[in-house]
Amino acid sequence: MAEYESPLWLCPYCGFKDSLWNTYYWKCPRCGKPLRVIYEKDFNPSGRGIARYSSMLPFTPTKTRGEGSTPLVVERINGSILLFKLEYLNPSGSFKDRGTALSIYYGFKIGYLETVEDTSGNTGISVALYSKLYGLKPIVIMPKTAPKGKKALVRALGAELVETPDRSTAATEVHRLIKDRYYVAHTWSYFYIIGASTIAFEVYEEAGIPDYVIVPIGSGGLVLGLIHGFLELVRLKVASKIPRLIGVQGYSACPVYQALRGSIVSKKSSHYADGIMVLNPPRLNEIVDVMKKYGYEIVLVDNEEILDALYELYNMGFIVEPTSAAVWVAYKRIKDKVKGSTILLPLTGSGLKTLIEREPPAGYSPI
Ligand SMILES: [Zn+2]
Repeated sequence: MAEYESPLWLCPYCGFKDSLWNTYYWKCPRCGKPLRVIYEKDFNPSGRGIARYSSMLPFTPTKTRGEGSTPLVVERINGSILLFKLEYLNPSGSFKDRGTALSIYYGFKIGYLETVEDTSGNTGISVALYSKLYGLKPIVIMPKTAPKGKKALVRALGAELVETPDRSTAATEVHRLIKDRYYVAHTWSYFYIIGASTIAFEVYEEAGIPDYVIVPIGSGGLVLGLIHGFLELVRLKVASKIPRLIGVQGYSACPVYQALRGSIVSKKSSHYADGIMVLNPPRLNEIVDVMKKYGYEIVLVDNEEILDALYELYNMGFIVEPTSAAVWVAYKRIKDKVKGSTILLPLTGSGLKTLIEREPPAGYSPI
């Protein structure tokens, strides 16, 4: 279609622009800040998966493993309507597949033969899966503290796994390996924001616009993607409102909370929520702006709460990972304030990758 002939890279900070199909940039080549991708859009859903929203994407991947079109489970609890979006049922077990499907297709189309990515876990599995799908060789750099199940799955999917002492080292080590390889850079990549925006489109089509979204914030791809998706629906006059955001971070890594509320002194830890252990998200300024503008609350969670919530979710039939349970902690914290509302809870990652990692909380007995 004509409108997709020239999507552009755009730097909102310095104004740098280039054709998307000219060269790949994982960050602005002029000022070093995160880029956006701009292109014409039209809300015209057709078909299944993320391809259902081809008219809202800069391009449509040619291969799929069924990413998107995840179930929405509706429960009436405490006088509210809770919409559980089962993102953990994506092909590699996390919402990251929506962005990865776009990113790796782009890397393949532009001519790369190998991919490389630094990750706390889920994105590595996703990158390994989609790289293999397009015949590219994946290298995944993960902290050695990542859940064993995640590391095993990266290897099983045929990726070369490089382990580093921690997540921050993974983010610096990757720079030794990016020459001549497609650096996915999901914490920077706008493809992951576009990918996550399709969650907003699916929720809108199935249940309308919720009053609130409870969203875990790590690198920020999910919160930025959701808000971008809802804002685009309003801009295109498809919807007339956007939800208020309830952000969730852990005590061990809470840069957004600190930017909004000031520094904290706490002995509490939250490393069970490995998926949101991101200390320096490249898009921090954008996340903080979005939370200032559309945020209702930002909640901090600790390991004990996460573990309790995880087992409560198991008992409700949701086999999620600890990072997703952080959302349930936040719901319980604010449930009386938002009583009578419709609340979206994205459940982001599968518990099958982390099931062997944690013993149940003390005194736990299944209902
Ligand atoms: Zn720039």
